[in-house]
Amino acid sequence: MTTIASNLQAVRAAVAAAATEAGRAPDEVSLLAVSKTFAPDAIREACQAGQTRFAESYVQEALHKIAALHELPIEWHFIGPIQGNKTRAIAEHFDWVHSVGRLKIAERLSAQRPAHLSPLQVCLQVNISNEDSKSGVSPGEAAHLAMAVAQLPHLKLRGLMAIPEPSDDIHVQRGAFAQLRELREQLNRQGLQLDTLSMGMSHDFAAAIAEGATMVRIGSAIFGARIYSEKDN
Ligand SMILES: *Cc1c(COP(=O)(O)O)cnc(C)c1O
Repeated sequence: MTTIASNLQAVRAAVAAAATEAGRAPDEVSLLAVSKTFAPDAIREACQAGQTRFAESYVQEALHKIAALHELPIEWHFIGPIQGNKTRAIAEHFDWVHSVGRLKIAERLSAQRPAHLSPLQVCLQVNISNEDSKSGVSPGEAAHLAMAVAQLPHLKLRGLMAIPEPSDDIHVQRGAFAQLRELREQLNRQGLQLDTLSMGMSHDFAAAIAEGATMVRIGSAIFGARIYSEKDN
């Protein structure tokens, strides 16, 4: 077995164990493989090991990989910061976007989604740590944004995403994820039907699953440590 295949097997087992521990069915949590900075061959390898959902953070880099791997049955998720001049490429080439934090961006994605494709599946990124530096809508403004995004014709609002401050303390991790879970419950009481909580990365997915994550976004535990180079976007 390749390293990526055995890492994937270990991650799947750990995700299932965390679900079981939380009294949830393992199939309630889907695994997104975060392949940013890794070459198409790494994705191909993971795909051969049964992984079909992949996430990217940089538009230019992702477009190269999507083209190179077009023959594979991959569902592509965009999880990075979204600039206004990149919305068309995202709308045309991705199945999901997790990082919508502003109505303007959502409107552009909806307007630019090609008519022959199914609606773009969208999560709102919520800034639960409430820091100025982080992107995402504030919890207090999330309901307003969600109601507006839910009206857009070529988007399907699925849920919420967050990237909390890293912490080694499981209680701190769970507290942040609990905020996102409670926000989804609140929005659903207000009439939305959000089925997705995109939360949990390599270092904190167990806590996220304990708080109700339905999608975990895992990169380094599958592909190894990332080495960043100059990005062309
Ligand atoms: C890179 C990234 C991940 C994966 O992080 P790992 O720690 O490698 O698992 C998850 N979510 C987002 C938004 C990312 O940018």
